[in-house]
Parts: sequence; structure tokens; C-alpha cells
Amino acid sequence: MSSAEFDFLNWINAQHRPATSIVVPPGDDLAAINWPTGELLLVGVDQVLDQFHFDSAIHTPRQIGRKVMNRNLSDCAAMGALPAVAVTTAALPKGIGLDYAKELYLGLRDAADPFDCPIVGGDTASWDGRLLLTVTILGRSAGIDPITRSGAKVGDSIYVTGPLGGSILGRHMTFEPRVNLARDLAATGGVHAMIDISDGLSRDLDHICRLSKVGAIIDAASIPIHEDARKMNDDRSPLEHALSDGEDHELLFTGKLKSLPAGVVRIGQIVAGAEIKITDATGTHPLIAYGWQHTL
Ligand SMILES: [Mg+2]
Repeated sequence: MSSAEFDFLNWINAQHRPATSIVVPPGDDLAAINWPTGELLLVGVDQVLDQFHFDSAIHTPRQIGRKVMNRNLSDCAAMGALPAVAVTTAALPKGIGLDYAKELYLGLRDAADPFDCPIVGGDTASWDGRLLLTVTILGRSAGIDPITRSGAKVGDSIYVTGPLGGSILGRHMTFEPRVNLARDLAATGGVHAMIDISDGLSRDLDHICRLSKVGAIIDAASIPIHEDARKMNDDRSPLEHALSDGEDHELLFTGKLKSLPAGVVRIGQIVAGAEIKITDATGTHPLIAYGWQHTL
């Protein structure tokens, strides 16, 4: 380990705040976490790559750190889980400097601290490549059975938690994970299937329908369209952006709610079969799942 890396790890360990859930804090080979008996552990990992999920020439390290942590927190939200602890890795371009690395870490903390989700371990290395950050998150069921993608039932309503489209104009870096809203919704018992919108409404609805073995009809006029979708100024309509743009990180869920919390909108219904359709002023048409494709 270089002395710069050693300084960075010492600095990170000094940022740690004691928490009752942490028995052995960061600084040893592994951290040890108290896990309440009777709870499920949920775990996931997500990475962000320079020039793909962000642009290091435009976005600050603080924004980049926040984004990768918020993607993981949003996955916790999608399951109705409570974020518990996170571990992280960073592949840092050589010569990027200690101040930059600290800002990345502080960005992770900006996102995680509101949820009392400590970062309890990690690893950094310098290389000739571009910046790459990963976060692995551990979540707790904390009294709510995990909400999966496969629980949608015929007759369910389909809901989203906020306006969609045009996230590329900036919201893909600044979205707020809907953890608290997800927990409130799930606690009603009226949520049957849930996902966070990372690939685009049409593709993420397709994920739910395939795994639940159901179809869906959505109503074009009821889809909340974000003002950013109207600013895109290209050959796609605002509705097409709302249907297909990724990285909104609002929740898409099905079920039966007795009342709708602020911001939650009903956009359609789960039906028998396997087709996803959309109704507009001209009639009912197949909805092609043409959201954001992961390019490999
Ligand atoms: Mg997700």
C-alpha cells in the first residue's frame, strides 16, 4: 500500500461514527455487524463507470459518490428494505489526488447518512484506467417482507411515485431514493410487486410482468411526465421520454392502495395474459419495451 493510500484509509476510518449496530468498526480485516434476530438480510451491489454512468469531466466527485450510493439505496427502496450498512470499492485513476478521493467518499456519506447507513469497509486501488466505483449494500427487512418483482396479481392497479422522463438533463445524478415512501407503502400491505425505475418505465414494467406472469394496460394520459421530458427537444415526444428514459429511480409498483400518498399516481392495471398495452386517444396499442438498454 502506498503512503497516499494509507493516509486515505486512515482519514476514512477517522470519519466513522460509532453506531450500536457495529461491533467491530472499519479498520480491521472485516467489520462485524449486529444483526437483529428474525430479520432477513438483503444484499445487492451496483457500480458506476466513468463515461457511462457519469462524466468525470462534468460531474463533481461529490455528485459521483452520491449517485452510486443512491442507486443502492434505491434498490433497498424497491424491496421495501431498510438500508443497514454499505461497503465500497474505488478504482482511482493514477494521480487523481487525495482531495478528489475524499470528495468521492463524502458523496457516498451525503447519500447514506440520512438513512443511518454506515460505510463499514472498502478497498481502493490506483490504475491507468478510468474512475470506477462500486457499492455493496446490506439491507434489513425490519418487519416488512421483501417486495419482489414477481408478486403482481391480475386486478392490481399500477402506480408510480413521481414524474418521469428526461433524467439525463441532471436528475440521474441528483435523484432521491424513495426508501421512506417505499416502507410506508409496503407497511399498508397493499403493495404486491415493486421495482425502482432504472431502465425506463416500459422496460421495468416488462420486468414485473414477465416475472409475475401477467399483462398490463397503462393509460397514456395518466403517466406523470417530468418537465425535463418536455425540454429534451429531440424527435421523441415527452410521453416517449417518460416511457423509455432510464435512471428516474422513482418506484413502479402494483397492488391495491386505499389512499394515494402525495406524488403517487395510478397509471394502469394488471391484466391476465402476457401483453403490455397502452391506451391513448386513438385506442389501445401494444407497448414496446424500448427503455434504456444496458450497452455492453
Ligand atoms: Mg433496481
